[in-house]
Amino acid sequence: MFELITLPYAPDALQPAISAETLAFHHGKHLQTYVNNLNAAVAGTPFEGKSLEEIVRSAEGGIFNNAGQILNHNLYFTQFRAPRENNLPVGKIAELIDAQFGSFDAFKSEFAAKGAGLFGSGWVWLSADAQGKLVITQEGNAGNPVAKGLKPLLTFDVWEHAYYIDYRNARPAHIAALWQIVDWDVVNERLA
Ligand code: MN
Repeated sequence: MFELITLPYAPDALQPAISAETLAFHHGKHLQTYVNNLNAAVAGTPFEGKSLEEIVRSAEGGIFNNAGQILNHNLYFTQFRAPRENNLPVGKIAELIDAQFGSFDAFKSEFAAKGAGLFGSGWVWLSADAQGKLVITQEGNAGNPVAKGLKPLLTFDVWEHAYYIDYRNARPAHIAALWQIVDWDVVNERLA
């Protein structure tokens, strides 16, 4: 059985980037529904007992959608911490970003543009490929880079449910606010 992850911070810890009300709906309602749906859908199928990554790499339809959304949200919710001013990358990820994109600002611009420019619902991802090179990709709906053989490091959810309570239709403003809550230590742990 899949279970709803516990948030590693208080419900109001990410304000003002993400409000407690948004977290209550996004984690407590949307993610819980994906968990309930997947548990019901895999019962009695070959996917029962498989990991989320295994399911995402091989399933289709409703099982893929719900497993993908659980995997995506588990990565999303565990990569944040309380807001910090001037929240810059550190360690290995900082070195790789500077080497490949030229600067953190250049990286942020490309990542934000791909998030804001994704048509409809989906996710923008920073991943590492098999050679350790960083790649920014857009994934529609429940897509996750593991299905392309990439290692996901950081993701911004650009489904409207992620920002509509706090930002209404202003997706770029929401994306801009998320940089102050990214936990770069978690990103480095995923990179290792
Ligand atoms: Mn979401």
